[in-house]
Order: sequence, then structure tokens, then C-alpha cells
Amino acid sequence: FFSDYRFAIMPSNDSLQVQIRIRPLNHKEEAQGCKNHWCLEDNCMYEIVPSSGRRANEFTFDHINGPEASTHEVYDSVAQDIVKETVSGFNATIFVYGQTSSGKTFTMSGTDDEKQHGLIHLAVQDMWDLASESTEWDYTIKVSFLEIYNEKERDLLDPSNTKLSLVQSFGGVTCVGLTTITVTSVEEIIRLLAKGKVHRETGATGMNDTSSRSHAIFQVHLESRPKGKTNDDYVRYSVLNLVDLAGSERQRDTRAEGQRKLEGSMINKSLLTLQKVIKAMADCGGDREKAVHIPFRESKLTRILDNSLGGDAKTLIICTVTPVNIHRAETLSVLQFARLAKMIKNKPRVNEKLSDKLLIQQYKQEIDTLRQRVTKLEAMAHQPAPACEKENAMPKASNVSATAPQIAQWQAKISNMDNMVSLYARRFLDLKERTEKKRPRRMTWIDADSLFELRDRGIEVYDEKNKQWTGCSLKREIDVCRKGGRISCPSRFGEQTSEPWGRGPQTRSASSDKTELQQRSRESLEKMVADLHKEVQDCKETMRHADGEITKMLQERLEWLDVLEQQKSAVQAAVTAAFQVHKQERVDFVNRLKAVIW
Ligand code: ADP
Ligand code: MG
Repeated sequence: FFSDYRFAIMPSNDSLQVQIRIRPLNHKEEAQGCKNHWCLEDNCMYEIVPSSGRRANEFTFDHINGPEASTHEVYDSVAQDIVKETVSGFNATIFVYGQTSSGKTFTMSGTDDEKQHGLIHLAVQDMWDLASESTEWDYTIKVSFLEIYNEKERDLLDPSNTKLSLVQSFGGVTCVGLTTITVTSVEEIIRLLAKGKVHRETGATGMNDTSSRSHAIFQVHLESRPKGKTNDDYVRYSVLNLVDLAGSERQRDTRAEGQRKLEGSMINKSLLTLQKVIKAMADCGGDREKAVHIPFRESKLTRILDNSLGGDAKTLIICTVTPVNIHRAETLSVLQFARLAKMIKNKPRVNEKLSDKLLIQQYKQEIDTLRQRVTKLEAMAHQPAPACEKENAMPKASNVSATAPQIAQWQAKISNMDNMVSLYARRFLDLKERTEKKRPRRMTWIDADSLFELRDRGIEVYDEKNKQWTGCSLKREIDVCRKGGRISCPSRFGEQTSEPWGRGPQTRSASSDKTELQQRSRESLEKMVADLHKEVQDCKETMRHADGEITKMLQERLEWLDVLEQQKSAVQAAVTAAFQVHKQERVDFVNRLKAVIW
């Protein structure tokens, strides 16, 4: 009966942080005479085998909070640091996982009582304080509140908003159309949170306990710019996802044979996929790049959490468990989920965006600095050696000239980089011009009747066969239509008229080719910047090395100059002394002559 697990997991920065919270016994459990089943020792929890009294199922995590811990304590142990990282530009996610009534919502949302504020309240308060105290950055804070129920997104800040869709963008998956409100105070955030909670609960009564089957994601978006700058030349974007998940016990229900069919639409696909994703990643040692397939795309929740599981965000999972023996199996299943999650490695990074203009400017500066350094090195390497009798003992001239080819190489590299930057600048301007001036043409399929009007108005149509835009010659187009071919025209034309061709499913976007082209251009620009960056780094590295060598050589020369200087003084002293001796001899000689004469 007692399968024995022993897992000791050491905290590390790049793996997911996992924390456990054991809630206190509730009134019902106390009335039934239930006891705390789990024992706690530091960050290790275990149970005692009744028959033998020995420990079993030991689990160690980053942090474990016992029944007496307040949400403040839960927040201070790990979440607080994660919130700080968000303010520095990292994406972060904190989610609570556990069976229904284990305290997920209590931990995330808490109550209005100050002592029982939830993690969301504590996190936004901390975020706000850090952002307003910053002397280097100006922050804009926005919030949104999303719910996923039966694989449908609901906007909790505006339930009437039904135009939501998940879209893959550069920074991960975002929910397009979701109400995002720029906030001006912590109180405003808390008001919005309460409003969203009401919408979630109202949904619950109508949809049979939605809240334990739905996932609620409260998002705090931060945009930071260097203080005093209002333009978008350099912006850091980060988002903190605070996720209250559905009750995890559904997993067991859906696994039960025969139940699967019965539950049908009620199966929480998102939660099942989350478990599959965690398992798939743990199976390949937590590194998602090593996995053949991770089913992120199978559910809305995992699509949204994509970046948080093995991606570039900082992630904390708080698993809430009940203390009682009757839920032991559920608790064990939650702890095993936590153990797998702990294996996942993330690669957190700051999300910064430099405008192309600023990037070009920065590279130009960088190249100028490199050019100056090379010129300086060249001058140093060619400095004439001081004349010296002991020529052989001086640093060899050949040493110095050995740097010459290297210098020529750097000069070539620098001019190459210069060309790259100019090319980049030109292509960037080109791209900008194309995207800003030429709005992509949308096209609409049309029917033969509408062709008459096209001809009368001189509007171009797109010839699918020859892949080009042509004037409408009518006869040819009607021919195409008769043969079942399709002709399309710019949708602007459709919009201006009473829409004979503007039928829903027939409309398609012709901008996709162009967008793809722009995307490709941007990708090649990005590759170019990456190459350039590598070149600059390489150049800097070899130069740093050469800089050291040449400085050492010059140092040796200076030391030699010192020796020469000393030798010179010694010779001078000897000459002076000799001269003094000589002078004395001359005086003696004159005196002797004088004596003879006089
Ligand atoms: P879940 O969201 O996991 O289904 P809840 O957060 O709604 O569970 O918690 C169920 C009940 O237990 C609530 O009445 C809540 O107030 C209470 N509760 C949960 N955790 C704690 C705790 N740590 N301290 C006090 N009461 C708690
Ligand atoms: Mg709940």
C-alpha cells in the first residue's frame, strides 16, 4: 500500500521553482476528527507508515509551507524574488496547482483582510513600489484578466467581449482582443481584480462550478523605458502571469475507464495537456530542445504557458495540498506532478527591444571606437625603438612587426562591418518605406456579374494564373469564371459598393505574401545583426589580447629607457669627475710653470 518515493530536489536558478503549501484543517475536517497526516521538516515533507512508524514518501522542494504559514510568508519565500525579476524585464509566471478546495484561490486571490491578502495583491503592491522607486526606468503598467473554461477564452474584465483569439507573436503566444487596462494605482489593480473575480463567480453559478474547472490568468504587463525617454528606441517588456488553475483531481476522473466517454465535454483538456507537457519535458531531462514533441499546441492553457515551461520566463509553481489522510492519493499525485515540474529547466532572459534606428546608431558608435583602437595600436606598434648599444637585448623589432598583419586584418574586418551596417541601414529604410507607404492590398473573391462594374471603374484584378495584377478586360475574366477559375479584386473596392462580392468565406487576405516577404527581410536583417555582433565581439576579444601584448612590450621598452637613463647619468658623472681631475692637473701644471718662471 505504501509505495515509497524519496525525492530530494536542490534549488537552482534555471530550473522551475516549486513550492508546496499545506493548508490547515477546515471546520468540517476538524469536526470529523481528521488529523494532519503529513509531517514537515525544513523543506521536506513525509508521512509515517502506521504499522512500522518509519518515514515514507519523502519529498523535498525549494520551499514547503506548513498549515500555520500565512500567505505573506508563502510570498516572501520565493515569489517575491520572481516579482523583482519581472520589474527588471524578465517574463515570469506563478501558478497554483492542486485539487479542489486545497487553497489555490485562497493563495492567489486571498481575501480583503490585510492579513489574508493573496499573492496577486502582494505581488502588484511590490511591483508598484519597485517601479515607482526606480531612478533609472519609467514604467507603464497594464493589467488583463483571462479565463479559460472548456477551451474557450473569456475576458474577465469585459465578459461581453467575445472577440478573443490566441496568436503566436515574436514574444510568445498572446491573447489578441483581450481588454488590457493601463492602471494608475495599486488600488485600481485590486478593483479590477475584484471585478474579474465577480465575473468568474457569476459564470460559475451558470455553468456548474466553473471556477474549479476553469483557469484564471491575471496578467500584469510592464513596459519600461530609460527615465525621461518617451520614444520607443529602447523598451523592455515583461509580463507577470498569475494563474489560478482548475482542480487537479479531474485528472484521475478522466483517466477512469468508461468515465472518459461520460465526461465527454467536461474533460479539462487544458489541465490534461499541462500534465502531458510536464511529463514530456521531464522525460527528456527538463530540456525542451531535446524532446521530439511536446504537445504545447494541444490546449489553450499550455499555449499561453509555452514560454513559462522551459522557455525564457522565470516560473514558480505553488502546489497546494490538503493535510488530511482521506485525500492522500490526490496529494501524492500532486507531489509527483511537482517532482516532474521541478526537472524543467528554463532559460530566462530580459525582453528588450531596440529600435532599428538605435541599433544602427549603436553599431556605428561601436565600429568607430574599434577603428580608433586599431589606429592607436598601429601607432604604438610602430613607435621607433630608442637607440641603444645593446640592440640585441631590446624587445625584438620583429615582435612588433608581427602585429602588422593582424592590424591589417582588423582594418579589413572593420570596413566589412561598416559595409554591413550601411547595408543594414539601407535595408531597414527600405523595409520601413515599404511597410509604411504601401498598405497591403486585401483581396476579395468576386463573381462574374460584378466584373462589369470592375471594368467600368477601371479597377485592377489579380490574375491567379499569371500571378499579376491586370486591368479587367472582362472577356478574359468571364472566361476564367465560367471555367470555374477564381478572380479576385482589392477588397477596398468591395467595401465601397453594396457588396455583391463581399461574401464572408470568400474573403481572403492577399497581404500574406507581402507580410511573409517583410518577415523574411526582417529575419535576414536579424541574422545580419547577429553576425555583426559576433564580428564585433571577436574583434574586441583579439584586440584586447593584442592590447595586452603591445602594452607589455612598451613597458619593457620603458624599463630599458630607465636603464639607459641610469647609464647616461653614470657616464656623465664619470666625465665630470674626469674633467675635475683634468682641471686639477692643469692647475698644478700652471703652478709648477709659475714656480719655474718666477
Ligand atoms: P481551491 O481554489 O483550491 O479550490 P479554495 O482556495 O477555494 O480552494 O479554498 C477552499 C476553502 O479553504 C476556502 O474556504 C478557503 O478560505 C479555505 N482555505 C484554503 N487555504 C487556506 C489557508 N491556508 N488558510 C485558511 N483557509 C484556507
Ligand atoms: Mg479555486
